[in-house]
Parts: sequence; C-alpha cells; structure tokens
Amino acid sequence: MHERGVRVTPQRAHIWRVLVETGDHFTAEGIRERVGGFLPGLELSTVYRSLEALRAAGLVSESRLPGEPKVFEARPASHPHLVCDGCDRILHPDPEVGRRMMEALDADAGGFVVRELHVMARGICAECAGGGEGAAGSSMA
Ligand SMILES: [Zn+2]
Ligand SMILES: [Zn+2]
Repeated sequence: MHERGVRVTPQRAHIWRVLVETGDHFTAEGIRERVGGFLPGLELSTVYRSLEALRAAGLVSESRLPGEPKVFEARPASHPHLVCDGCDRILHPDPEVGRRMMEALDADAGGFVVRELHVMARGICAECAGGGEGAAGSSMA
C-alpha cells in the first residue's frame, strides 16, 4: 500500500487483508461483516471510502455484475466473470481471455478506446457439472 502512495489506516489495512487473503469477491456489506470483528462500529460509508482509496491506487477493482450488487476484489484490471448457477461462486477465466476481449473491442470499435470491461457469463462450474464428491455419475440407464 505504501508503494502505491496510499495512506494506511487500520480500516484500509483490514479491508486489504481480507481481500488479499481470501482472493474472493465481496460486496461492501460483506466486507463490513468480515472486518467488523476487528473494528467494531465500522460504518458502511467508511468501507466505501476505504475501497475508493484502494481503487484509486489501482489495488482493488470494482465489478458490476448484472442483477448482482457491486463486488470488490484485490485484482487490478477489469476482467470477465463466470458465475456458477449451481454454487453461486464467481470464477475467472484465464486472464488472457479478458485481454483478448479488450483488444478485440479496441480493434473493432471504430476508434472507441475500451477502458473497462464488465462481462458476466452464467453457467455451471466444473465441480458442479462433475457431481462433486461421491458417486453422482452412477445412474447409467
Ligand atoms: Zn473478479
Ligand atoms: Zn458450481
């Protein structure tokens, strides 16, 4: 954080740690629940301000998934998301996929420069499709 010129406050440090350690996507409300144990009385508005500071420094990205609340995560660039209908997890394709989409749009958009990409695909993740644990695939008629 220091390297990016972000003033480190306890709120920012805790929020950053949760995002990095889990590597997961959180709504601002979800972050408040996670961090609230360390910082009782943490206001949602403080969470938003901290996230905004981290985002401005390029440490955190914010994604708007259609029909879902905004989510934050400790990854810099905007990237496509894969949402599983089975377990509701948010997954990422190979980062190369996002880069290629951005490039394709840049090349194809008649001078329009793409800065952000918010793409969400819904489907079934490998674990859900594979039946997970146990002998789920045993019903061969
Ligand atoms: Zn993501
Ligand atoms: Zn799944």
